[in-house]
Amino acid sequence: MFLARTIEDILSHIEADTEIIAVLDGVWADPPIPQNDRVTVIHLAKSIGQRAATNLACKLSRAKYVMKVDAHCSFDQGFDRKMLEAFQKTGDDVTMVPIMRNLWAFDWKCYHCGWKKYQGPTPKKCDQCGKSDKIRRKMMWVGKNNPQSTSYCFDSTPHFQYFEDWKHRPAYENDKKEKGITETMSLQGSCWMLTRDNYWELEICDEKFGSWGSQGIEVALKTWLSGRKVLVNHATWYAHLFRTQGGDFSFPYRMSNSDQEKAKAYARDLFFNNKWPKQTHPLSWLVEKFWPVKGWSDEDLTKLKANTFKFSDNAKDAKSGPSEPLPDNQSSGHIIYQAPSRTASPDL
Ligand SMILES: [Zn+2]
Repeated sequence: MFLARTIEDILSHIEADTEIIAVLDGVWADPPIPQNDRVTVIHLAKSIGQRAATNLACKLSRAKYVMKVDAHCSFDQGFDRKMLEAFQKTGDDVTMVPIMRNLWAFDWKCYHCGWKKYQGPTPKKCDQCGKSDKIRRKMMWVGKNNPQSTSYCFDSTPHFQYFEDWKHRPAYENDKKEKGITETMSLQGSCWMLTRDNYWELEICDEKFGSWGSQGIEVALKTWLSGRKVLVNHATWYAHLFRTQGGDFSFPYRMSNSDQEKAKAYARDLFFNNKWPKQTHPLSWLVEKFWPVKGWSDEDLTKLKANTFKFSDNAKDAKSGPSEPLPDNQSSGHIIYQAPSRTASPDL
């Protein structure tokens, strides 16, 4: 539903020589995608899943850098140029993400009385006049100022978590002040950028994980454990639409819990048992690097180091952290702006 708008947003904000490769995985774009020389659209009659689709897009790219983004995102002016400038500072052995904001994509509006409601499932009726026949989406498309997410981890289950505590440690504070680029233990998964060479070298969308799930942890761990770094570029941002309120405002990809469980089970075996052939560090090295880490006990780490780590019986049912980041009490501080090649955006 938001793919065309996402592509228009990218086209209006790119400043480098960036091309867009959009994969329509078993669906047509509605509304349709505008014709543009920079946009390549691949339509698959039958869904092949997010990892296979991303690989397909990357095979078509001839760019030095590739950025994968979800199909419901907005972007900072010149985000592509600012990311390329950051890669010039860090070198290419990194995976980098911009700051993540929350996308305010639309309001519901009653065109009888003017009542409005923040994005969410389709309202059954207007709360003000009670009518239901003229409630429409009113597009807003605003990357909200608050929160601005820059730190992620996974707990010992492993579930994705926002890692607020890391942002108050000297390593983060110094890097932010001196470089405008900070380290992050893991990733949220809706956007990440690396060289196309590293994309293939690190098998960044291994289809053995299944079609969907655990993408952020896969990208982050393959980057860190192979001796590279996962970084957040504070000079720019993208905004991601979180569909977390259920009903017809929930995650649209045809995913099942079994897909997610399959990905998680594969990630557990591969990374917690240090079975990934390309790793030069054990997982315990990464956990220690960011220690203490939200959702990890001393005992968990001791066992991980001794290779006797066992997932607790109830870990499978443990609740993950909120998928949508919550606003800070006050808007976060200053963003240091920094000051290119080609990027591609395999877009799902
Ligand atoms: Zn009304």
